[in-house]
Amino acid sequence: MEVIRTVATTLASCDEARSNGKSIGFVPTMGSFHDGHLSLIRRARSERDVAIVSIFVNPLQFGDPADLAAYPRNEERDLTIARELNVDVVFAPSAEEMYPQGRPDVAVDPGPLGERLEGASRPGHFRGVLTAVAKLFHAVGACRAYFGEKDAQQLALVRRMVADLSFPVDVVSSPTVREADGVAMSSRNARLTPDQREAAGCLFLALSEAAELANAGERDAAKLVAAMAREIGATPEARLDYAVVVDEATFTEVREIRTAARALVAALFGQTRLIDNLLLPTA
Ligand code: AMP
Repeated sequence: MEVIRTVATTLASCDEARSNGKSIGFVPTMGSFHDGHLSLIRRARSERDVAIVSIFVNPLQFGDPADLAAYPRNEERDLTIARELNVDVVFAPSAEEMYPQGRPDVAVDPGPLGERLEGASRPGHFRGVLTAVAKLFHAVGACRAYFGEKDAQQLALVRRMVADLSFPVDVVSSPTVREADGVAMSSRNARLTPDQREAAGCLFLALSEAAELANAGERDAAKLVAAMAREIGATPEARLDYAVVVDEATFTEVREIRTAARALVAALFGQTRLIDNLLLPTA
């Protein structure tokens, strides 16, 4: 496995693979691997000739410097795991390699969807995400890129960027990998106290209640939202940020569930913000 630190070497390596007729599977991550990352890496490994994983904790997408500083980093462990999974290339650039001039003046505008939900709670977050993803896509070139449904709004925005700005990238998504109690795997879970970790189960519980209501034929999104807010509100360790139902295609909030819809929740457990979502069954 090659560990590459520069954009130029990554592009040269990917160009060479493509010129030999090989297909490339790319998994962008911020490292500190858990089973959610591994499901994407395994899929890239099995579907494409060359599997490349990036590890980059992107400073542009963190509003709060303390949040960036507290983000878990485990490069040695990640590299060992990547080797075990037969990854061909790990691209692990420094912030200086990605942003040699510091914060870039020109960045990707995520549009109106970037201002809502996660974007409303974390101003500038998606601008930072898309700018980094765009640079990573340029470093890798034409590929199939793997993203988790766990970050559904990010996935929707990456799909839009690829379509709107004509990136030669085929974006595919994989389902959320969960702990035994339903909590979505996340690098942030490690920051929870034991009480908060237990309480975090309320997010999946809330989403599951919404799914049950939808399955029973409830079409009024407000009823699902109320049930989710009630479940999370009844958990003293959790402070609800939002509970919504959005149209799967447009990612706009719906009043009536008619086409494919997704329930999304976000809540704070102490200083740690967790998000989760579930595609609702169509009864
Ligand atoms: P991150 O390192 O958190 O930026 O995540 C890298 C990729 O892994 C993103 O596409 C995430 O959506 C995906 N991911 C994170 N957590 C999970 C999970 N629990 N299940 C599936 N994919 C995930």
